[in-house]
Amino acid sequence: MNVLGKVTVLPKLPAELRRLEELAYNLYWSWTPHAQALYQDLDPALWERFNHNPLRVLLEVAQSRLDELARDSRYLARVRRVLADFDAYLQAPTTWAKHNAAELGQIAYFSMEYGFYESLPIYSGGLGILAGDHCKSASDLGLPFAAVGLLFHQGYFRQMINKDGWQEEAYDELDLTTLPIKPARTPEGKEVRLAVPVAGRDVHIRVWTLLVGRIPVYLLDTNVPENSEADRALTARLYGPGQDLRIQQELVLGVGGVRALRQLGVNATVFHMNEGHAAFLGLERIRELVQGGLDFASAVEAVASGTIFTTHTPVPAGNDAFPLDLVGRYLGDWPAQLGTSWEAMTELARHDQPWGQTFSMTVLALRLSRAANGVSELHGEVSRKMWNFLYPGASEDEVPVGHVTNGAHTLTFLAQKLRDLYASVLPEDWQERIEDQAMWEAAIPGIPDENLVAALRDLKLDMIQFVRGRLQEQLRRNGASAADIKAAGSVLSPEALTIGFARRFATYKRATLLFRDRARLSAILNDPARPVQFVFAGKAHPADNPGKAFIQEIYRMSQEAEFRGKIVILENYDMNVARHLVQGVDIWLNNPRRPLEASGTSGMKASINGALNFSILDGWWRESFDGTNGYAIGDEREFSSLDVQDDADSFSLYETLEDQIVPLYYRRDERGFNHGWLEKVRRAIITVAPQFSMQRQVIDYTQKYYLPLSARAQQVWANDFALARELAAWKRYVLEQWPNTTIQASADVPATAEPGQTLKVRAQVNAANLSPRDVRVEAILEREGQRERVVLSHGGNGSYEGEIALSNSGLYTVSARMLPSRPELAGELELGLIKWA
Ligand SMILES: *Cc1c(COP(=O)(O)O)cnc(C)c1O
Repeated sequence: MNVLGKVTVLPKLPAELRRLEELAYNLYWSWTPHAQALYQDLDPALWERFNHNPLRVLLEVAQSRLDELARDSRYLARVRRVLADFDAYLQAPTTWAKHNAAELGQIAYFSMEYGFYESLPIYSGGLGILAGDHCKSASDLGLPFAAVGLLFHQGYFRQMINKDGWQEEAYDELDLTTLPIKPARTPEGKEVRLAVPVAGRDVHIRVWTLLVGRIPVYLLDTNVPENSEADRALTARLYGPGQDLRIQQELVLGVGGVRALRQLGVNATVFHMNEGHAAFLGLERIRELVQGGLDFASAVEAVASGTIFTTHTPVPAGNDAFPLDLVGRYLGDWPAQLGTSWEAMTELARHDQPWGQTFSMTVLALRLSRAANGVSELHGEVSRKMWNFLYPGASEDEVPVGHVTNGAHTLTFLAQKLRDLYASVLPEDWQERIEDQAMWEAAIPGIPDENLVAALRDLKLDMIQFVRGRLQEQLRRNGASAADIKAAGSVLSPEALTIGFARRFATYKRATLLFRDRARLSAILNDPARPVQFVFAGKAHPADNPGKAFIQEIYRMSQEAEFRGKIVILENYDMNVARHLVQGVDIWLNNPRRPLEASGTSGMKASINGALNFSILDGWWRESFDGTNGYAIGDEREFSSLDVQDDADSFSLYETLEDQIVPLYYRRDERGFNHGWLEKVRRAIITVAPQFSMQRQVIDYTQKYYLPLSARAQQVWANDFALARELAAWKRYVLEQWPNTTIQASADVPATAEPGQTLKVRAQVNAANLSPRDVRVEAILEREGQRERVVLSHGGNGSYEGEIALSNSGLYTVSARMLPSRPELAGELELGLIKWA
């Protein structure tokens, strides 16, 4: 058959229901269960069949049903209430951002993936959910914010687990007419179209607008008739195979994204690169400035001044590093457009590996930003260590990578039942100050035991029903026997302690750690008085066979007689499955190999829903765990071998389950309640809901990065980039002079000294042709990894001196060094130059 064209026929919505279409086009509904229920009630079967897609339900629902509801006064009252809330949300005049409106420039946020909702499957895991949540909170807070990403028309993939327990992937072509997106338009009303040069040809791109509350997300799409079949497929699949595809997708995102913003009239001051995938946006902005007459080095200064880079992975494979010949194929003609040489361009991204020089997107992002951060305190530390080599002479703690710990978007993941329960004790404006710890501390103890127990029990029953239904579907598809299908209808007991484990099946997350001592596990699960059961879910990347083998191992365990009905693994982990699990289990398990979990966020979602987090002290949990709000696995040790680490962690896991979690879970007081458990649940809510909310996270980004970068960029760009030019010229001069500089130093160091004594340090500097204003000379006192710095003062003729105090007893080392210095630098290591005496 030859398809001649497609046409979407929108239903004739009765006047009373007309605004349901407008609401369907704003993802406000995705964190508003009452809004979702309006579409679900139009036709519950359609709602399920199309994976919770309001627009699709509106397109497919029978006209007679619409007419019927248009006369249903109770339904109409619900519609009016949701719309009133929606309007109030969109127009809220006093938002958090208003307090900073004068200083805060427009923010442009770039990410390869976004997890907004299950029916818009353009995410693979935590990185995408985080980006989606970031947008939602940017909207909640009223930030001047626009996001850029790609529209993957086959998504990531749909996961099926076959009857052997092996993961299979299906790629469904999304029908764009049923997604809540509209063609993006220029301020003049024209549809945005642009092209990106890729290896000598033009790749044509169209742009879609997705509304997330008050902010737009612009999704780039190469699936247009002007493109070759291969180019149309560039935006087919997220994280498809091969580096050729990856670099082209990154060009579409970075270069195409900047071009799209120009056409849309979005004039950003701050650019936020969420992971190195987006770093080509920096090259495109440099190209624009160079085409406008600025030189390359000044353009680098101008672009970097307002840019922030967030790194997400301490796993080397997670950092894109392209071979130079590949980069030559795709970016061979870029140096000419950037007004620079191939060497200078590739130097910006240089990462020398054992197999040769590579073009690292992380290095590029670090070089083209003036602020960088990891996503938890520990991940900040690990990142500083990982990228220390880029700053020779600097110690780990000086590497300019900070941290903002991740959060989760509260309303997206909090069950409606709990939302109502919390609202009954929280102040009326609680949604505007989710980050307010004192508010949660004051309110949550006021929830009566019986109400909390009832809500948690309902959610657990919902989750179990959901799991049974999903398992039966899977079995039917795999041709299972009627008896097996029937048996799946009664897996999991509502009375048993239920533990959830769901995430991407990357091997460092060790999904099978639980099975390291099978006999011990069996004893825990099969204790007749105190049974325990597990629900697993998660996707392995299609090319990750070890990850798929983990899925298979769990599947096989779930089929063993001793574990049947007590260990289950669900297929196709997505946001819908995630919500059911975090809302319905008692314990949320996370056992990654420390320190490879940069943050983790699913445990936050569980905690705010009253499921206790039980996790390795990695990522966010290392900051949150306080002994009262969940459980820790292992300690903060470092290990000599992976095997030793796996043994120690699994041992701790079993022991904590046997000695602490199971006994506490099954305790009951005279009234039949489990007060000890409920206290822990309340502590989890109180400690995690404010501190690990996305609202807190986005406020942190704004205060720590967006506001200072706005100011800095405006300063650097003023008067036709005067400061950018000055900084570039100054850096060039310093780099020239630096090899000719020398520093010698001496200190009066006695063999022993008393606390309180001071040391005199002297240095003699030959600054070549640099002025004393251009360098800073300092003494460094080091003791057990702690550094103290004292700036030495210049006494003329290159001689410097100063005194340092020995405040405590211990073994100190004293040294001296010099760095280029200038008040306008964003950081002391911007030039990467340190000379030690
Ligand atoms: C929250 C979430 C993740 C990330 O969870 P981690 O704990 O960071 O692994 C991945 N996938 C889905 C569907 C999620 O909702």
